Amino acid sequence: MSRALAGRSRDVPALVAAARDGDARAVARLLSLVEDADDCRPAIAAALTPFAGTAAVIGLTGSPGVGKSTLTSALVGAYRRRGERVGVLAVDPSSPYSGGAILGDRVRMQDHATDSGVFIRSMSSRGHLGGLSAAAPQAVRVLEGAGCTVVLVETVGVGQAEVEVASLADTTLVLVAPGMGDSIQAVKAGILEVADVFVVNKADRDGADATVRDLRGMLALGDSTVDRWKPPVVRTVAAAGTGVDEVVDAIAEHRAWLAEHDTLRLRRERRAAAEVESLALGLLRARVHAIPDPHSLTTLAGAVAAGQLDPFTAAETLVAALPR
Ligand code: GDP
Repeated sequence: MSRALAGRSRDVPALVAAARDGDARAVARLLSLVEDADDCRPAIAAALTPFAGTAAVIGLTGSPGVGKSTLTSALVGAYRRRGERVGVLAVDPSSPYSGGAILGDRVRMQDHATDSGVFIRSMSSRGHLGGLSAAAPQAVRVLEGAGCTVVLVETVGVGQAEVEVASLADTTLVLVAPGMGDSIQAVKAGILEVADVFVVNKADRDGADATVRDLRGMLALGDSTVDRWKPPVVRTVAAAGTGVDEVVDAIAEHRAWLAEHDTLRLRRERRAAAEVESLALGLLRARVHAIPDPHSLTTLAGAVAAGQLDPFTAAETLVAALPR
């Protein structure tokens, strides 16, 4: 597909066919369309349904500077050596930039820039209808449609948005580094609960042993139910590629455990439920806003503001006025 065609095309069958052939521009165009909440999203989603669920989705989260980009890049290399096709979504909930803009500085992906088996994309949630939670699963499906067997979802910080993105993944890696107080921060942000694998990166620095000990101590305090996954703690020096194979092994073990316990299906069902609910609420909101007078939101809101109507009755009136 030519650059000009991919750049503005809404020809979903042609774009999906080109993406299936590994055409990077068609993949980029499809990612833009789902990210911009374009009207052709339903057609894209329908065309991609046969390929949904075909990739291992791996989330990476942790404080800025802990080494997520570096580890992501190292993991891309490790999976490429294993013959996988790899997609990377670098998610920055606070960034105004999307598309290719910030990849140069934030994601250390230069090594993979010319590899046709790697698709890299940064996403921001700013201005998104339904937030990141609405766009990210669709972006994962685009990458699956493009034949990616592994999708790495890298987030920027430790907070609610990151927890949300982690819920997108089959396996979530939480990165901490010695001396950053990360383990404490992770507990505060509720990250401990979402971690399937802990990675103590920068293990070449002083304090790595103490960080590993802290984490193991915290994990020992947690739920020790027999058939619960016990998150391993893996040390890495991502910048030197050390420990990366061990991370890949830990991810594979977690995946095998998920399959054995039917948890992968449950996780994916929960994820699908959240996605469908979010889309359904979006549709409802659009319909609520389209209700004409005398029961329009504007008119009812005016009555509430003027003290003529209570907000509960106004809400009930709106819902009752929804077209069937
Ligand atoms: P991110 O903000 O979490 O994505 O972190 P980056 O991957 O951008 O890494 C932040 C800095 O830490 C960079 O300067 C990296 O080169 C450096 N770095 C990454 N991994 C290691 C490591 O294992 N050891 C050391 N000493 N530095 C590392």
